[in-house]
Amino acid sequence: MIWRAQPIIGIKTGGWKRREEGYIQRLYDKNQAANNFAHIITHHLVVRRQKMVDLEKELAAMREYYSSGNTRDASWRRAQLRGLLLLLHENQTEIFNVLKQDLGKHPAEAYRDEIGSTIKSINYALDNLKGWMSSEKAKLPKVALLTTAAIVPEPLGLVLVISSWNFPIGLSIEPLIGAIAAGNSMVLKPSELAPSCSSFLAQKIPAYLDSNGIKVIEGGPTVGEQLLQQKWDKIFFTGSAGVGRIVMAAAAKHLTPVTLELGGKCPAIVDFLSSSWDIEVAVERVLGAKFSACAGQACIGIDYILVEKKFYPTLVELIKIKLKTMFGENPRDSHSVARIINRHHFLRLKCLLDDPNVRASIVHTKKSQEVYIEPTILVDPPLESMIMEDEIFGPLLPIITLQKIEDSIEFIRSRPKPLSLYAFTNDRSLRKRIISETSSGSVVFNDALIQYLADTLPFGGIGDSGIGRYHGKFSFDEFTHYKAVAWRSFLVDFWFRFPPWNDHKLQLFRHCYEYDYLGVILTVLRLKKPKPSSAS
Ligand code: NAD
Repeated sequence: MIWRAQPIIGIKTGGWKRREEGYIQRLYDKNQAANNFAHIITHHLVVRRQKMVDLEKELAAMREYYSSGNTRDASWRRAQLRGLLLLLHENQTEIFNVLKQDLGKHPAEAYRDEIGSTIKSINYALDNLKGWMSSEKAKLPKVALLTTAAIVPEPLGLVLVISSWNFPIGLSIEPLIGAIAAGNSMVLKPSELAPSCSSFLAQKIPAYLDSNGIKVIEGGPTVGEQLLQQKWDKIFFTGSAGVGRIVMAAAAKHLTPVTLELGGKCPAIVDFLSSSWDIEVAVERVLGAKFSACAGQACIGIDYILVEKKFYPTLVELIKIKLKTMFGENPRDSHSVARIINRHHFLRLKCLLDDPNVRASIVHTKKSQEVYIEPTILVDPPLESMIMEDEIFGPLLPIITLQKIEDSIEFIRSRPKPLSLYAFTNDRSLRKRIISETSSGSVVFNDALIQYLADTLPFGGIGDSGIGRYHGKFSFDEFTHYKAVAWRSFLVDFWFRFPPWNDHKLQLFRHCYEYDYLGVILTVLRLKKPKPSSAS
C-alpha cells in the first residue's frame, strides 16, 4: 500500500508550530519520495508486464506461422539460407566494423572466424539440404510381412537460440543455419555484451529473412529470463556453465530439449618433439590458437599447456621468439590481437594475476592498458590458484610442467571433461592412450581450433563442457525430430498375435523374435510341438 501525505488541519502557535511545520514538511517530503519510488516500481512492473504480454503475443503469432507449414517448405528453407548468405556478402564492411567496435578484431580474423566460416556452413547446408530432408527407408525383418517403414525428419517447432559475445556473429548465425535447414521458426537472442553486433543482427536479419518465422530479440539476462519463461520446442544455448544451468532448469519446466554449448579449460599437451621443424610448427599453432582467436576468449582456445619439465625452457624461448614474429614488439600496435570485451572481464583477468604466487610465475608479459591485455606466459602457477581452477578466457597462457608427458593423462582425467583436448606429439602410443583414456568434446593432434571448421565433425561438449552437438548435418539433427513411420497392409496378419493365449502361440512368438522362420513354419504346420510354459 502506498502511504500518502495528508493535509494537517489545526491552529498552532509560536516555535512549537514552526517545529511542527518542519516536521510535517519532512514527513511530507519523505512520503513524496516514497510515492515517487512506488510510482517508479509500479511503472516498471507495468512496463515489464506489458512487455511479457507483447512477447507472448509475438510468440503466439510465430507459432501460428509455424503451424501454417511455411517454414517446412524446402523453398522457404532455401530462401532463408540464401538470405543469410546475402546478408553476409553484402554487409561485410559493416560486420568488420561492428566486430572491431565490440572486440577490436582485425578484419582478417573476423573473416576467418565469423564470416568465412559461416558462409562455408551455409553453402554446405544448401548443398546437402535435399538429402537431409529426405525420409529414409527403414529395413524391417521378414517377419514383418507386408509392412514398410521409414524415418521421417520433422522440424521441432519454435526454437530459442541464445548466443555469447566472443564470436557474436558466427555463434549467432551458425545455430540458425541448422534451425532453418530443419524447418523451424526461431528467436535469436544475441549477447548484450557485444552491443554493436547485437544491434547489427537485430537490424539486418529482418531485412534479409522472413520476419514471420525468424526474429531477433535483444537484451541481457532480464530479457533472457523472460524468454526462458516461455514454452519452446528447443533451446539452443551458447555460454557459461552457470547460465547453462539456469537454461536447463527453465527448460525442465516445459520438458523442452536443450543443447548447451559451454566452455571450460581446454588443455594442450606438448610432447618433446625431436625435429626443430615440428617444434616450430607446434608453437606457431599453439600461439595462433591461444592469441589470434578473440585474444584467448574462445571456448575451444587453449587454456593451458602441459609439458615435460626438461622441455619447458626450450618451449618458453621459442614462444617468446614466435610471439615477436606474430605480433611484433608491441602486440597492441599490431592490431592482430583482439581486445578484452569489457572492463569487467579485463579486471577479472587482472585479478587472476593478483595472487603473488601466480605473479611470480610470469615469464613473459607487457603492461596492460584500458581493456587490452598483452599475451602473457606463466610457468607453473599454483594448481589451486584461480588461474588454474577457472576457465581463463583471455590471453594468459600457463605452462604446467610434469615429470613425464604420460602424467598429462591423469592430470586431465582428474579435472572436468574439457570441450577440446589438444596434443602435439609424434608418439603413437601416447595418442592411442589419449583417445582411449580421456574424455572430451573433441581431440585434435598436432593442431588446435581446426575441428570447428569441419562440417563432418560433431561440435559440442561432454559433462561440464556441454550437452548436444552441431555443425553440418549434426546441426540439422539437433533441430529435428526423427519420426518413426510404419505402413501395414490389411491383407495378411498373424492370428497368433491376438488372445486367447496358449502354448502354441507362445512357441510361435519365440520363433518370431529369434527370426527362426523354419521354426515358425514347423510350428504352424504342427510339425513341432510347443514347449509348455512353466506357468501353465
Ligand atoms: P553467459 O553465460 O554469461 O551469456 C551467454 C548468453 O546468455 C548471453 O546472451 C546472455 O545475455 C545470456 N544470459 C545471461 N544470463 C542469463 C540469464 N540469467 N537468463 C537467460 N539468459 C542469460 O556467457 P558469455 O559470457 O556470453 O560467454 C562466455 C562463456 O561461453 C564461456 O564459458 C565460454 O567458454 C562459453 N562459450 C562456449 C562456446 C561453445 O561453442 N561451446 C562458444 C562461445 C562461448
